[in-house]
Amino acid sequence: MSNEKIPFLDLVTVHQELEEELVAILRTALSTAGFIGGPMVQGFEQDFAKFCESRCSVGVGSGTDALRFALIAAGTRSGDIVLTVPNTFIATTEAISQAGGRPDFVDIDEQTYTMDPAKLRQYLEDRCTWDSKGGRAVHKGTGHPVTALVPVHLYGQMADMDAILDLANQYNLKVIEDACQAQGAEYFSQKENRWRKAGSMGHAAAFSFYPGKNLGACGEAGAITTDDEQLAQTCRLLRDHGQSKKYFHDVEGYNGRLDAIQAGFLRVKLRHLKTWNEQRREAAERYNKLFAGAEAEVTLPHQPEWSRSVYHLYVVRVAERALLQKRLDEAGIGTGIHYPIALHLTKAYEGLGYHVGDFPVAEKAALEILSLPMFPGLTISQQERVVSEVLKSLALVNSNGLR
Ligand SMILES: *Cc1c(COP(=O)(O)O)cnc(C)c1O
Repeated sequence: MSNEKIPFLDLVTVHQELEEELVAILRTALSTAGFIGGPMVQGFEQDFAKFCESRCSVGVGSGTDALRFALIAAGTRSGDIVLTVPNTFIATTEAISQAGGRPDFVDIDEQTYTMDPAKLRQYLEDRCTWDSKGGRAVHKGTGHPVTALVPVHLYGQMADMDAILDLANQYNLKVIEDACQAQGAEYFSQKENRWRKAGSMGHAAAFSFYPGKNLGACGEAGAITTDDEQLAQTCRLLRDHGQSKKYFHDVEGYNGRLDAIQAGFLRVKLRHLKTWNEQRREAAERYNKLFAGAEAEVTLPHQPEWSRSVYHLYVVRVAERALLQKRLDEAGIGTGIHYPIALHLTKAYEGLGYHVGDFPVAEKAALEILSLPMFPGLTISQQERVVSEVLKSLALVNSNGLR
């Protein structure tokens, strides 16, 4: 087999293929000086809302902006506890803090790596009391109200939203989906007996168009989706210094607008997203087949019946991850770890007072997960080489008695 290098992510080819269309967008922007707002932003917002089967979409500067604005617009007040999971990118919890909230965690499901509804129920039943006058759960330890939830649709797969939304209704919690890794992912709602798109189920959702995401800009960008026109309007104010019209500031806001050139690029790329997501699904199925028989050594991604993942990442689990990653690197195969440190153990959150053992499922996953090459255009022969190198490395580990 060839020793061709296999990148973790190839962002070059796709942009070469789309070069003419993308350059045309740039020319339009230059010839009109339409850099901020305008038809390219509105056009993309309309297309993206439609794609997500959501009523409104508001383009913003990044996924972090989208999370922060959605949380503020959903009514997060200073001191409110907002629950999420420990195994996410820090932007999730940064946005909670920056919206005035206090991030707190519930552990994940061992197979899907997304928020475990049973643990969420436990948190609300055991760690909180119900304040019937205020109509909200209050955390016993701190006296702070729990007002919102941010389930993270991780690696391209949605969290178990029926169960999460049931609890959110019961406990009067706003749900902001972190859909930054899940453009186009779907969830089969038993309650509604139909497939629902990521970004259409919570009160609002946040998307990132960081270049490496399934839909990526050629720079920074993000969007909020929601069915709530009022919430969307508040996000429009927040992204633009609280302006309802030029120099009329209804509230203090932010500089968090979606760049018009990026909106134009995104609109072009959005037309291909369905195909790209299908290619990712095919690649994931191919990996699954190639790994068949080795499941004892390599835990493969689990896709429940109710999920259609868009495989932002293809994440396996192995006991001896460091060694495997090193061997793959030596073989010229790029990998990643998403994420190596559960957030409750990261330095920035020392102040929350959590320790090793507090969220054991997320902690164990953090030690064993490995993201293999995954992108549209990944070829069969590349995948065969990835899998053969993984299996070869694991066999080496065994025969050398290193385990
Ligand atoms: C990428 C990402 C974000 C942040 O998005 P940015 O556009 O980089 O600000 C937030 N949450 C998750 C889960 C992400 O993967």
